Parts: sequence; C-alpha cells; structure tokens
Amino acid sequence: APARKPLMAGNWKMNNNHFEAIALVQKLAFGLKEADYAAVDVAVLPPFTDIRSVQTLVDADKLEITYGSQDISQHASGAYTGEISGAMLAKLGCTYAAVGHSERRQYHHEDDALVNAKARAALANKITPIVCVGEGLEVRKAGEHVAHCLRQVTGALEKIPADQAAGLVIAYEPVWAIGTGEVATPQDAQEVVGAIRGLLGELYDGETADKVRILYGGSVKGNNIAGIMAQPDVDGALVGGASLDAGEFVKICRYRD
Ligand code: PEP
Repeated sequence: APARKPLMAGNWKMNNNHFEAIALVQKLAFGLKEADYAAVDVAVLPPFTDIRSVQTLVDADKLEITYGSQDISQHASGAYTGEISGAMLAKLGCTYAAVGHSERRQYHHEDDALVNAKARAALANKITPIVCVGEGLEVRKAGEHVAHCLRQVTGALEKIPADQAAGLVIAYEPVWAIGTGEVATPQDAQEVVGAIRGLLGELYDGETADKVRILYGGSVKGNNIAGIMAQPDVDGALVGGASLDAGEFVKICRYRD
C-alpha cells in the first residue's frame, strides 16, 4: 500500500488576530505529542497578518507544527495592490498555500484558470498548494458531483508536470458540507476522493497518483474524523471551524485513538 503521511490542516479563515494566533498555536503545541507528529503532519493556515507571528513562535520553540496561507497571488511581484506573493510567503516559512477554496471561488470569483495560476505560483516558490475542489448542493442533487470535481482538478493542474504534481495536496470539500455541520458520509468522501486519484493516474501515472495526498473537508470534528480517515484514498482533513479550538483540533489529529 502507498505510504502517504496524513495531513491535518486547520483553515482558520478570517479569525484570530496575531495575538490570538500565538495563543492558539501555543495550545496546539502543548496538546500535541511526539507520537502525534510521527503519525500525522499538522498544519495551520492563519490569516496573512498572523503568519509572521506564527513563524516566530514555531522557529523559537522549534515546533513541529507547519503553517501556510489561505490564498496566494498568481503574480510574482509588482503593481498588484493588496496582493501577497509566493516569494513573500516562502520567506515567512510557509509550507502550504490553499488555492481555490470554495469561499474564494464564490465571493472572489476565482475560476479554474486562476486557481491553476495560483497553484503554479506556489510551486514556483517551493510552497505546496492545497488545491480545493468541491460541488455545491445543486450539482450533487443532479448527480454530477464527481464530474464537477474532476473538471476542477483537471483545470487546476494544467501545465503542472508530474514531478511537481506528486507533492501536491488536493482537498475535496463539498460546499454543502462547509460550515454547515452536515459532514459528508465516509462513502461520499471516498467516492470523490477515489475518483480524483483515478484521474491523477490518467493525467500523470499510477506512481504519481499514489503520492498525492487528498484531503476531505467539510464539518470535520473530533467525533466524525475516524470514519472518514478509514477510507482508503482519504489522506487527511482540511478543517475549518473545529480548527479554532485547540482541544478539538488535537482530537482530530489523534483520530486513531
Ligand atoms: C473549510 O472551510 O475548509 C472547512 C472545511 O470548514 P468547516 O470545517 O468549518 O466546515
């Protein structure tokens, strides 16, 4: 069986000022033990304004918690007021950058071409993109969720070569499950995540497909993560609301217990 180390990534969204960010990372560091880091990669995705503070704390205390951004500019530098570049994020020690989160697609009109440009901007700076895909309720009701997600993945990966694709993280986040308390069933998650891995095999090859970590996201909590993680193709979770509570996020990281 392929050895993919699970990843638990906390998407804080627009929550926590830099002071609150430091407190939350300290609580996480206090709760997580060596055995946890050995079993899973743990990451937080704070707002941009918190990242320098998180970096300072992680470096000073040599924490094994990794971190990243919730978004990234598709541009390298220049006259793009308000944007944050991959080089800036790399300088702050970001391991990950989420791209194409459903809230970015919905409220900021990000399409697959832009998500692709952002994923490539991350890779150009040795940052791992967490490429988010997922269908809305209407699409699911129409039974078109698998095709919809595969289309989004195909668009996001354009012009990304196999050697770079192998290190990617993809997150399947059904929009109807985000922030609603309505978690997908483990079977729902596996259906789409398995199809995405199949697609990666077609776009690249089986070896590459086996290396990509594919997460599930949408109302993950300490009490529903185990069933989702038991699915053969699910390699972790992107966690929103529950990642704001250190105790709950630690529980999620310890889903094996
Ligand atoms: C998310 O926005 O990535 C997410 C999964 O949110 P929640 O866990 O709150 O549903």
